[in-house]
Amino acid sequence: MSNIETIVIVGAGQAGASAILELRSNKFAGNIILIGDELHLPYERPPLSKDVILKPEETKVEILSEEKLATLGVTHIRGNGVVKINPEAKTVELQKGDVVAYDKLLLATGGAARRLPNFDALGKHVYTLRNLEDSQALVPVLQAGQRIVLIGGGVIGLELASSARFKDCQVTVIEMGPMVMGRSSPQILSEFLLAQQHLAGVDVRLATSITNCRLEQNQQGEEVVITLADGEELRADAVIYGVGIVPNAQLAIDAGLAVDVAIQVNQNCQTSHPDIYAAGDVATQLRADGQYRRVETWENANLQAGIFARHILGIEHPTPNPAWFWTDQLDINYQFVGDMAAAEWIVRGVIRPELRAASSFVLFGVTDGIIVGGITVNAAKEMRHLKKLIAKSAAFEAEKHLDLALDLRKIA
Ligand code: FAD
Ligand code: NAP
Repeated sequence: MSNIETIVIVGAGQAGASAILELRSNKFAGNIILIGDELHLPYERPPLSKDVILKPEETKVEILSEEKLATLGVTHIRGNGVVKINPEAKTVELQKGDVVAYDKLLLATGGAARRLPNFDALGKHVYTLRNLEDSQALVPVLQAGQRIVLIGGGVIGLELASSARFKDCQVTVIEMGPMVMGRSSPQILSEFLLAQQHLAGVDVRLATSITNCRLEQNQQGEEVVITLADGEELRADAVIYGVGIVPNAQLAIDAGLAVDVAIQVNQNCQTSHPDIYAAGDVATQLRADGQYRRVETWENANLQAGIFARHILGIEHPTPNPAWFWTDQLDINYQFVGDMAAAEWIVRGVIRPELRAASSFVLFGVTDGIIVGGITVNAAKEMRHLKKLIAKSAAFEAEKHLDLALDLRKIA
């Protein structure tokens, strides 16, 4: 099979943990060394904006337990991140001075919350969300009656708005763009998402920019005062911002690998150095259309980890499924598959925002008569069928696909 003795994985998150499982399930018997800068066992992030805040006692986020890592024969170095890669010597240097040798290296370092320095400068009452500590820090902040301003109407902003409303906070979302979740959702769904936030009592400000922020003393203590471009002032007990991420690509830049904003990888997740791979939020992958694209989802981290593992073991990749992700907001489950930039979106069922958590419908994304994308709203069981239709580039047929009397399972 392969003469690889030691694989080093940098980053003990979703892609790092998944790579271990993929390597062992594909019979890699050599050494695996997992190096993380966090003190935790590998954990997943999706619950951080939802159940870790709403049900902290009963929510487990761990992906691999200590016992499981031992069973898999993995050496886990924690709280001691990699600070340098030496591609010629095939070693990495750690924060505490250790040097670790590899045959193949996987960079699975994820991303960090993009910073808003003017808010950070306030020092207090300002939060971001990327790791477990960030999420735990929000639990005492999101208390009933607290005035919470969320900056950014992306996935973090909307999921936190939902969690904050469940906690009876007063919530305002400030989004710079003209629609919520504009980076990942078509207009038709964005309007539904917005309607749900309004029905839940969230004040959403679209196309709104901030010109100033400051701390002021009031009778209860301190508050953050945010000035909007039209001069209006919003007062908050806490501000949480989610304005995108910056990939943790500095190690790769310093090592001379090809990096745009993220680490460029080919279809096998290999970087510009043949012994170094990258996967997950930190990687931007060359696609069939010749463009590099980065996908910031749980599924993509797992998928690319699998591509890496199979490639170094000389195993062929199965054809990848169309990209998929989900979000849970205000007791509604949304799932997205395929191309969100489809030319038109067609509804199967009826969009009735007023039904709130009882809403349920499916959207077909169609380009040139072909189904290229799909969205389910509280209709998770239909997702499998949408994936199939997209995978086989099925032609959209209104009389068939929109007829609620016909089971999607039978026509996919
Ligand atoms: P991460 O999981 O972030 O792991 C990277 C790890 O590398 C981190 O532990 C980091 O500390 C570590 N690291 C960084 N630099 C170094 C270094 N130099 N040395 C050692 N270690 C290092 N996706 C969905 O599809 N659905 C969801 O509902 C969803 N919800 C989310 C909610 C939140 C709050 C967040 C933050 C993300 C969510 N995502 C969701 C996105 C998904 O979690 C990410 O796409 C996924 O975690 C990416 O995996 P990764 O391994 O690339 O990065
Ligand atoms: P995001 O989805 O990229 O959204 C950021 C939003 O903030 C965008 O709508 C952006 O608008 C807006 N914005 C940027 N600068 C702003 C400013 N100064 N003022 C107001 N709005 C501003 O990023 P995110 O919500 O921060 O999420 C971070 C990461 O977590 C991503 O990797 C995301 O995929 C992941 N995550 C995923 C899920 C999920 O998949 N369910 C859930 C939570 C988190 P423009 O687009 O107009 O710039």
